Amino acid sequence: MLGNMMDNPLLISGLIEHAASSNPNSEIVSRRCESDGVSDIHRYTMKDAAKRSKQIANALIGLGAKPADRIATLAWNNYRHFELYFGVSGIGSVLHTINPRLFPEQLVYIINHAEDRWIFVDLTFVPLLEAIQDQITGVEGFIIMADKANMPETRLNNVICYEDLISSASDELEWPQFDENSAASLCYTSGTTGNPKGVLYSHRSTLLHAMSEISREALGISGLSCVLPVVPMFHVNAWGVPYAGAMTGSKLVFPGPGMDGASLWQLIEAEQPDLLLGVPTVWLMLLNHMDEIGKTLDSVKNVVVGGSAAPLSMIKKFDEVHDAFLIHAWGMTEMSPLGTANVKTAAMDSMTTEQRHQLQQKQGRPVFGVEMKIVDDNGDSQPHDGSTYGRLLVRGPWIIKQYYKSDDMSSFENGWLDTGDVATIDENNYLGIVDRSKDVIKSGGEWISSIDLENAAIGHADIIEACVIGVAHEKWDERPLLLVIRKPESTLSGEEIKQFLSDKIAKWWMPDEVIFVESLPHTATGKLLKINLRKEYQDYLLNR
Ligand code: AMP
Repeated sequence: MLGNMMDNPLLISGLIEHAASSNPNSEIVSRRCESDGVSDIHRYTMKDAAKRSKQIANALIGLGAKPADRIATLAWNNYRHFELYFGVSGIGSVLHTINPRLFPEQLVYIINHAEDRWIFVDLTFVPLLEAIQDQITGVEGFIIMADKANMPETRLNNVICYEDLISSASDELEWPQFDENSAASLCYTSGTTGNPKGVLYSHRSTLLHAMSEISREALGISGLSCVLPVVPMFHVNAWGVPYAGAMTGSKLVFPGPGMDGASLWQLIEAEQPDLLLGVPTVWLMLLNHMDEIGKTLDSVKNVVVGGSAAPLSMIKKFDEVHDAFLIHAWGMTEMSPLGTANVKTAAMDSMTTEQRHQLQQKQGRPVFGVEMKIVDDNGDSQPHDGSTYGRLLVRGPWIIKQYYKSDDMSSFENGWLDTGDVATIDENNYLGIVDRSKDVIKSGGEWISSIDLENAAIGHADIIEACVIGVAHEKWDERPLLLVIRKPESTLSGEEIKQFLSDKIAKWWMPDEVIFVESLPHTATGKLLKINLRKEYQDYLLNR
C-alpha cells in the first residue's frame, strides 16, 4: 500500500523560489575578477539573484537551450555563477561546471564528451578557451561573464556579453516542473590516470544532499550563518553550498579569484563569516598569513576541511590560536560530495583537548543518507574496530550508480560504490581514511599510510609541503620515500626530519630517505599527484 502524500518533484528551481520568498534580503557578496580583482566587491540579495536567474533562464531559452542540453561554466565563485546554478538547471538544462585547472587536452576532452552547447566564461579564463577553440567545434558560442565596459578583445567566435543578455531578458518565468530524477549538473573527476569521468547529478540527489548537509550533524548551515566557500563552484558544486545557501537564506561570501591568505583575510575581516569551507592547502596559506600579521579569525566558529586529510597541526592551530572548530569532512565527486563529517559532540566535552584533537583527525561519521562499510579483497565485511583496514564502499541517494556515458562498471559492486580509499571504521562509526588504495605503501606484507606520514611531517614548522610515496625495495617490496618542500631560508636536514618524526610514527614506518624538492605536482583539485613521482623514483632505493 502506498502512502497518501503528494509527490511534488524536488527541483533546484524550488530552492531559489524559496530563497526569494522566505529570505529575500539575505546577502550575497562576491569578489569579482573584472578589475584589479582585490577591491572589486559586488553585493546584492537573494531576491536579486532569483530575479536574474529567471532572466538568464529566459535568455537561454531564447538561445535555443532545451531540457537536457549541457550548458557549461568556466568560472570562479561569484554571483553570476550562482545565478547560473539555478537558471540553467531550473529550465531542465544541465549545468556542466568545468575545472579551469584541468590540462588543455582534458578541457577539450570533457567539453566534447559533454557536448556542451554554450560556455559561460569569466574573464580570467577566456584565454584558456581561445587556445582550444579549434578543437571544441560543437560549442555554439561563448557568454563572457562581464558587463559591456569590461568585455575583452577576444578571438572567440560568437561571443555574447552576460550583462547584455540579462538586461534584454524578461524576469517573468514560471519554472517548468519535471521528473526530479532528471539530470541537473555535471562534474568531471580529475582522475590521476585516463580521461576524466563524468558525474551526472540529478535534481533529487542535489536537494537531498543539501537537506542532509545543512543539518548540525553535518555542516550546520542556517539562516544565522555567514558562509565563505573557498571550495570552488567549478568542482562538485562547491560542496553543495550554493544550494544550501538558497535553502536556508544564509549569507554567502564568494571569494572569486582571491584564494591566497591575504585576499581571504581581507574578505573575512570585512564580511565576518562564521563558517569557512575548503581544502587543507588553502587553510595552510591563510594560517601562515595570519601568523605573519599576528591577527586571529575572530568571527570564524567552524572550518570545514575536506578533499585531503587535515593534519593535526592544522586542527590544533584553528583551535588554539583562532578558537575555531575544524570539522573534518570526507567525500568525493561521485558523492555530491559529502560522505562523513566530524562535528562537535557531547562526548568530546569529557575528553582532554589532546584526545579531542586525536579524534578530529578522523574523517567523522556518515551524514544521514550515506551508508558505508569496509571489505577485504574477497568483498567480506571487516570489523568496525578502528584498526582493521579495508576497501571503503558506500551507497546512498546522492552517490553515483554509473559514470556519464560510460559502460565501465569496475567501481561498482552489488549496489555499492568502491571509493578507491582504504579505511578503518571504529566502534562509534568514525571513518579513518588510511590512504588511496593505490597510494598505500605495502612494506613486508604490512601497510603504511602515506597520508599519516605526510601529516606527521607537515607538523614541522620548516616544512611547507610533504609527499610520501612507496618505491621498490629488495627486501620489503616497498618502502616509503619522503619528498619535502622546506621553507626557503631553512637548513633543515633529512636526519633532523627523521628525528622529528621518531616519536610520532611507528618505527618501521620511518621513511628510508628524505628528498628535498622545489615543487610537488598536484591534480586539478589540488591533491598530490603521485603517479609520476612513483615512476620517477621507482628504483631510487634499489640503485643506492
Ligand atoms: P575528489 O573526487 O576530487 O573530491 O576526491 C575524492 C577523494 O579525496 C577521496 O576518495 C579521498 O581519497 C580524498 N579525500 C577527500 N576528503 C578527504 C579527507 N578528509 N581525508 C583524506 N582524504 C580525503
